Amino acid sequence: MWKDVTETDWNNWKWQVKNRVCSLAELSRVLKLTPEEEGGIRREEDRLPMAVTPYFLSLIDPENPECPLRRQVIPRIEEHFLCSRDLEDPCGEEGDTPVPRLVHRYPDRVLVIATDACVSYCRYCTRKRIVGKRPQSIDREQLEKVCDYISGNKRIRDVLVSGGDPLSLCDEKIETILKALRSIRHVEIIRIGTRMPVFLPQRITPALVEMLRKYHPLYASIHFSHPREITPETTRACEMLADGGIPLGSQTVLLRGINDNASTIKKLLQELMMIRVRPYYLYQCDLAVGTEHFRTPISTGINIMEKLRGHTSGYAVPTFVVDSPGGGGKIPLSPSYFIALIEGKAVLRNYEGKIFEYPEPVDSKKIRVKLRREEAPEGAPSLLVT
Ligand SMILES: *Cc1c(COP(=O)(O)O)cnc(C)c1O
Repeated sequence: MWKDVTETDWNNWKWQVKNRVCSLAELSRVLKLTPEEEGGIRREEDRLPMAVTPYFLSLIDPENPECPLRRQVIPRIEEHFLCSRDLEDPCGEEGDTPVPRLVHRYPDRVLVIATDACVSYCRYCTRKRIVGKRPQSIDREQLEKVCDYISGNKRIRDVLVSGGDPLSLCDEKIETILKALRSIRHVEIIRIGTRMPVFLPQRITPALVEMLRKYHPLYASIHFSHPREITPETTRACEMLADGGIPLGSQTVLLRGINDNASTIKKLLQELMMIRVRPYYLYQCDLAVGTEHFRTPISTGINIMEKLRGHTSGYAVPTFVVDSPGGGGKIPLSPSYFIALIEGKAVLRNYEGKIFEYPEPVDSKKIRVKLRREEAPEGAPSLLVT
């Protein structure tokens, strides 16, 4: 389909955005679609729009309907199967929205929904009630109200700019948002949530990085799902951001049939470390409408964590969380390494399942303190506990 495109066009992010595949007719010229996919694409009403960048489409296996990249962006008929457990607002964000486009759930940090658009749409989007609906971005008046709210809440020291994908905005607009947030004295750190290095790595340009680095300390959380997303283009994009001094973290949603096994996740995490992305969160899939076919049982995530801790670099181990329905926020889950507390000893198990004991400090009233000056090294405190 893009045989005649020049390399300059292909590497131009605006060309990529303009040439996204958004219709059944276009898509069927590139992929051999299954009836389930055709059905999912045809029924447009009430679904998240479909859009795939030519770059991301080029990574998809045209023959394999189970291709893990394909399943993330091509609708299937299952998307229209509603189940009673589905929720319009799966993490209860609306209830924590004091001003439009701002979610204030935790004491010291807020989330800003900078835009409702993305360059490609993940079928399991947790914010599909907003995202892609009428893609708009924060306007001047809304930004002012968001900043007024943050200015009036001195406890807010961390602002997470997300969406949609904030890097789908033009450099000028992103800068307007960052500048406004930076001008608030008590905002210590700013974070950007994005999937651009995966869907459109060409978006990470030298000009963008030069602009971003003026707003340090700035962090970025990048959404990755599968090791096959780590291409030379993605590597370059992450390297540019990291070279711009932006610490990079990853966020991954566990998805049935896509990445829900320990070997795929471990490969992803280790490869992320190679491109200087530090694994941050592994998410249980939220209860967004029409996503039940993507969800795994909680035990899948816990079992994957069991196969990570101790088996790979601690740096490569993310935190597995459930963003709880009803607005409870992120709840970490992990295998239990604590077995019991018996007679002042903590009974623990390690990653191999071996049992160890850690004697806790004896009750302070019973601690016998004795002067043993002769045993203390030069300059050390002279009180030793026996
Ligand atoms: C995830 C999230 C944050 C950030 O949480 P961290 O654990 O600090 O990364 C902040 N606000 C909302 C509403 C969130 O969902």
